[in-house]
Amino acid sequence: MNSDKDYIPLTPLVDPFQRSITYLRISLTDRCNLRCVYCMPEAGIKFLPRSEILTLEEIARIVRIAAGMGLRRVRLTGGEPLVRNGITQLVRWIAETPGIEDISLTTNGMVLAAHAEELARAGLKRVNVSLDTLRADRFREITRHGDLAAVYEGISAARAAGLSPIKINVVVMREVNDDEVADIARTTVEEDWEVRFIELMPFMDEQETCIKDTSMVLGFVPTQEVQRQIEAALGPLEAAATKTGGGPAHYYRLPGAKGLVGFISPLTEHQFCASCNRMRLTAEGQIRPCLLTDHEVDLKETLRSGGSDDDLRARILLALETKPDAHHLWDGNRPKWRKMIQIGG
Ligand code: SAM
Repeated sequence: MNSDKDYIPLTPLVDPFQRSITYLRISLTDRCNLRCVYCMPEAGIKFLPRSEILTLEEIARIVRIAAGMGLRRVRLTGGEPLVRNGITQLVRWIAETPGIEDISLTTNGMVLAAHAEELARAGLKRVNVSLDTLRADRFREITRHGDLAAVYEGISAARAAGLSPIKINVVVMREVNDDEVADIARTTVEEDWEVRFIELMPFMDEQETCIKDTSMVLGFVPTQEVQRQIEAALGPLEAAATKTGGGPAHYYRLPGAKGLVGFISPLTEHQFCASCNRMRLTAEGQIRPCLLTDHEVDLKETLRSGGSDDDLRARILLALETKPDAHHLWDGNRPKWRKMIQIGG
């Protein structure tokens, strides 16, 4: 891992609103071994042909170029990043890239137990595990194929491999898991996890299709309500800081707890976008400056037509020029082009 503090970028990645973009989330694949009800339907999904997905070498090249422009942190996501062959090699390449200080992974945890140690050895620093419920039957219902015990094994393996901190992502949905938020928050008393409650984002058309085959109706629950419910059951939350810093979550600690409780509020926090420091690289090679806005700049064509590093730098800067000040969901803006799994959630 290169952590040379004096590393000077060639071209700073700064957007038109003077936000420094130092963080890239990379979707390694649109495929997933689960079918979470709020993310994708059980069947009928057209996955990208393999030839349309960036190769590991192409991804590593983009990271190297972006690191020269000021990129410092990389997160691997998907789809499910652990179903992508060669992920360990990619982590190694990214870890060796001058300027990159932090590599993390977002995973559903299903096969994490088998990979945690080799990923840590390759240079992965930490993992976020998506876990929306503590009940095995409910977990299977939400994910359609998930095995809660396998996820717990994955979390244990991550801890044993020294991946830290372990963050747990919980998407809160009314009448699906909102009755569990206090129980989930309570786990931070004994576990040094950072449990983050996330507001359900409106990938609406998608969600309607996703849940047609289940009895579930996915309802939005605002952070304020989740926080009230936790405090009513467990006592006051005190503001706290995470070791990793810089993300969209606001963190708190329950009285005497080892871990932290965080809230990510893309819909109800008006200042949510003001401190955004990220852009995304989709599985098929588009730079997407905002998760919730359908604007992208293609890098794959440039990569595959013999484009130079300068050409790629210019494309990345072009993408940044169009990063909006905010997602504007409250003005009716909705992402339409892509599923979350293709963008890299
Ligand atoms: N397969 C990996 C996983 O399950 O963590 C990575 C991909 S998943 C799309 C990344 C994150 O996006 C997960 O934490 C998931 O809960 C979250 N997510 C997906 N759809 C969402 C939505 N509509 N609103 C909020 N979060 C969502």
